[in-house]
Amino acid sequence: MDRKAKAVVCREWGQPVQVETITVEGPRRDEITIRIGACGVCHSDQSATTGKIPYPAPLVLGHEAAGVVIEVGEGVTAFKEGDHVVSSFISMCGKCRQCVRGRPVLCENARKAMFTLPDGTVRTKGADGEDLNVFGACGVMAEYATMHVDNCVKVDESVPMQNAALVGCAVMTGVGAVFNTANVEPGSRTAVFGIGGVGLNAIQGCVTAGAEMIVAVDNNEKKLEMAREFGATHTVNISEVEDGAKAVKKLTGGVDYAFECVGAGAVVEQAYKCLGRGGTAVVVGVSDPKDRTSITTLTLPADEKTLKGSWLGSARPQYDFPRILGLYKAGKLKLDELVTRTYHIDDAPQAFDDMLAGKNARGVIVFD
Ligand code: NAD
Ligand code: ZN
Repeated sequence: MDRKAKAVVCREWGQPVQVETITVEGPRRDEITIRIGACGVCHSDQSATTGKIPYPAPLVLGHEAAGVVIEVGEGVTAFKEGDHVVSSFISMCGKCRQCVRGRPVLCENARKAMFTLPDGTVRTKGADGEDLNVFGACGVMAEYATMHVDNCVKVDESVPMQNAALVGCAVMTGVGAVFNTANVEPGSRTAVFGIGGVGLNAIQGCVTAGAEMIVAVDNNEKKLEMAREFGATHTVNISEVEDGAKAVKKLTGGVDYAFECVGAGAVVEQAYKCLGRGGTAVVVGVSDPKDRTSITTLTLPADEKTLKGSWLGSARPQYDFPRILGLYKAGKLKLDELVTRTYHIDDAPQAFDDMLAGKNARGVIVFD
């Protein structure tokens, strides 16, 4: 059935987000409709409002939510009404070459549908009946969302929605970059550039992985304070030093793993430069498609350095989301502390402003 829902929409690149009442259609085959309980505000949502992430407007934002299944489509067997689920902005078809080789974040079918459901259509309509695209096949910054089952992961009902939601992006992305992409070993020396929702999770991933040194790098003192609370052993305020990479090298002698969680070629250069011999720099931040980075080519062979990327923490969502929630329940990952502030959906524009001002670890929109 069709449902009216308040939703956070980007109508035009460069304009503030709008809260609108939209229509969310019921599920078709292999789809489910979710009543959203909470949705985190990620920098990637912001980047989609400027065209840095070039998903075409009009676009329903949101890709980091938890909710309850309220309607299931034909053929759905893995979910039933009342199940708690977390959204995943990658779907895994399970059949393409990338899924079969164990790399579902690279799913070839998901890549074809970055701002629609996997079949190329949407269940979201604006007031004039026009189609509204959905961020990452999700569009979950809304009271309701209809998604393909491949974009949903069933989770433990005892975890509060506002904590579970964050596993859909920030936690999976940061922790997964450490566990899955980099495979940080105990005793490693590490650095994290950019201490937002994603970077804080890279820090706590490094703690859980047993890193010896974790250097947090940001230009905002409040973020560096949060970094220490999440387990950073050292901090560098780049507004106080001439060269962030040199400062990290001075503290550590060169790190084994550096994580770029900002989304800028200049910061990728810093992350690469602060590596010791044999080090790996992992690029997590999403930069403008025109952005470029430059490295000293010789250091790749002569120092056996590695530069690699990480998409949603190289997740296998159906395995990793419950794994992360298990670590939270065991007291080994902080999720409560990530939620600095909750917002009513009417205050979504404020939540975006607060993220840009660096006020929150994560701001989360919660629904009644
Ligand atoms: P955020 O806005 O919460 O945090 C960004 C942080 O970077 C802030 O603390 C800011 O002060 C800091 N910063 C800005 N410029 C800096 C610089 N030059 N050096 C060091 N720190 C600097 O953002 P977020 O939600 O944590 O997202 C971080 C990045 O990760 C974004 O680019 C986002 O699009 C990307 N992202 C990637 C994936 C993925 O799958 N790879 C998933 C989610 C988000
Ligand atoms: Zn995100």
